[in-house]
Amino acid sequence: MAITPIRYLTTINRKSIYIKQDYLNHPSVQGNKLRKLKYNLLSAKANQQTLISFGGAHSNHIAALAAAGKQWQLPTVGIIRGEELAAPNRWCHTLNTAHANGMQLHFVNRKAYREKNNNHSITHIIAQYPNGLVIPEGGSNALAVQGSSEIIDEIRQQIPTELPNVDYLFAACGTGGTLAGMIDGILTNHLSCQLHGIAVLKGADFLTKDIQALSQHHAAINWDIKHHYHHGGYAKTSQDLHDFIQHFEHTYHIPLDPIYTGKLVYAVFDLAKQSTAEKGENWLIYHSGGLQGKPSTR
Ligand SMILES: *Cc1c(COP(=O)(O)O)cnc(C)c1O
Repeated sequence: MAITPIRYLTTINRKSIYIKQDYLNHPSVQGNKLRKLKYNLLSAKANQQTLISFGGAHSNHIAALAAAGKQWQLPTVGIIRGEELAAPNRWCHTLNTAHANGMQLHFVNRKAYREKNNNHSITHIIAQYPNGLVIPEGGSNALAVQGSSEIIDEIRQQIPTELPNVDYLFAACGTGGTLAGMIDGILTNHLSCQLHGIAVLKGADFLTKDIQALSQHHAAINWDIKHHYHHGGYAKTSQDLHDFIQHFEHTYHIPLDPIYTGKLVYAVFDLAKQSTAEKGENWLIYHSGGLQGKPSTR
C-alpha cells in the first residue's frame, strides 16, 4: 500500500490546516475501511475463512468488505438490517455493488439486528458458514485497531517533508475503532499531538467507553470526542453542512461524503474559526474515505 499524501489547505486564526488524503489508498476498499480490514483479511486468507459481518443498507463497511472479498478471493456474507430489503429491486447502490462483488446477503428485522450478538435467527445464519470469521458491525475489532494504528506510522514518516508537525489530529467517529487505533499509534510513535474525534451519531455516549475497551493506551494519550457536529444524527444533514461541502469541494477539489468526512471537515474549520489562542499550530484532518456511497462520484 503506497503512502497517501498530506496536503496543506489553508490557515485560519494561525492554525495551519492539512489533510491526509487516505481516500486515495484504494479505489473500492477505501480509507479507514481498508485499514480496518487489512489484518482481518490476512487472517482469513491464511485460514481460507468466510468473512461475515453486519451493516445497514448504506454501510461503507459492507461495501468495503464485499470489494475486499472479491479482490482477495475470499467468500463474504453480509447480515443486513431491514427485512423489507429482501427484494433485490429495493436495493440501494451499496447493496447492488456488494452483491455484484459476490457477497451473500441475509436480511434480518431490526429487533434481531439490535440483538445480533445473541439472537437465534442470526446464530442460525452464521452457523451456515462453519469456517467463518465474524467481524463486528463497522469492522471494529482488535485487528482493525492494529490496522488503524498504521495511519499514524505513515503520518510520522511524512513529518517534516509533507507537514512540519502535528499539534492536533482530527478524525470522524462512528464506532470508534479508527480512533482507538490512532491512540495506539500516537503512543508507539511518540507523537505529542492531541487527538479529537468528531462523532457523526447523535448521543453517541457509548463512544468513550468503547474506545477505552479497544485501545490499551487510552489513558496515556490526550484525546476526546466532540459531540455537537452530528447535524441531526447519523446520515442526517443540514443546509449548513450541505453548503459547506459544496464550497469546500469547489475550493480544494477534494471530495467529501456527507455522512463522515463532511461533518469532520466542517467541525475542524468551525473549531479553527472559534479558536482564540494566538499560538501558531498545525492541525491535521484524517480524510477517512466514504466516497463509495456519494451519488456524484459514482
Ligand atoms: C466507517 C467510517 C468512519 C468511522 O470509523 P469508526 O472506526 O467506525 O469510528 C469514518 N469515516 C468514514 C469515511 C467511514 O466510512
